[in-house]
Amino acid sequence: MNQVIQNLDKVKQRITDAAHRSGRLPEAIKLIVVTKGVEVSKIQELIAVGVTDIGENRIQEAEEKYEIITEKKHGQIKEKYSDNKCQWHLIGHLQRNKVKSALEMFSLIHSVDSIRLYKEISKRSIDKQHPIKVLLQVNTTGEESKFGIGVDEVLTFIQGTQNYPNVKICGLMTIGIFSNIPEDNRPVFELLRKVSDKIEQEKFDGVEMKYLSMGMTNDFEVAIEEGANLVRIGTAIFNTDN
Ligand SMILES: *Cc1c(COP(=O)(O)O)cnc(C)c1O
Repeated sequence: MNQVIQNLDKVKQRITDAAHRSGRLPEAIKLIVVTKGVEVSKIQELIAVGVTDIGENRIQEAEEKYEIITEKKHGQIKEKYSDNKCQWHLIGHLQRNKVKSALEMFSLIHSVDSIRLYKEISKRSIDKQHPIKVLLQVNTTGEESKFGIGVDEVLTFIQGTQNYPNVKICGLMTIGIFSNIPEDNRPVFELLRKVSDKIEQEKFDGVEMKYLSMGMTNDFEVAIEEGANLVRIGTAIFNTDN
């Protein structure tokens, strides 16, 4: 069997095991296959074996792939594709001047990190049929090099979004510290879950803490144990030298 598909099966099994270990249903955890830097033909093979969620972190790269994979022509998506349609997730930083393109492709934007960006998404989504679903990216590690809203600023941030229509906050996203030791990120993921619980208690209008997007190749099992229901995994699937 093709190595990438084998890797995918292994990752799915590890997700299932981590779910069971923490008394959760494996079906409650969605795998987002992160395809940055991966060629289109490989992505298509994965879609053919049932992958439904694709994560990209740059608009231009995503756009090129999206157009080929969906066979998008003149703004219309071909019917053949819409039968087994994927959800595309934007997991990387979004600049305001790319919002319009992002809204054409992505079902969920994981990386909202400023009110200015939120306002722009709202403005650009006025004519859409459904509210745009977003996650707030939280900087749980305190690293200055990382994007994201500070842990202590999230509640104020949400208060500041309440007057802008047609965007729906559906949860939180974070990126752990870069480490080969999965346990290093347990406190970080636990913190994100606590922030999410706190937001839930506030019962903000139209805000639903449905998703916790956390966990990558090095730490997804720990993230699942701490409550992740969206895990974003690239290397463990596409690395074929193991
Ligand atoms: C690249 C990337 C991932 C996937 O990381 P891997 O370690 O390759 O699994 C997840 N989330 C974000 C935001 C990324 O940029």
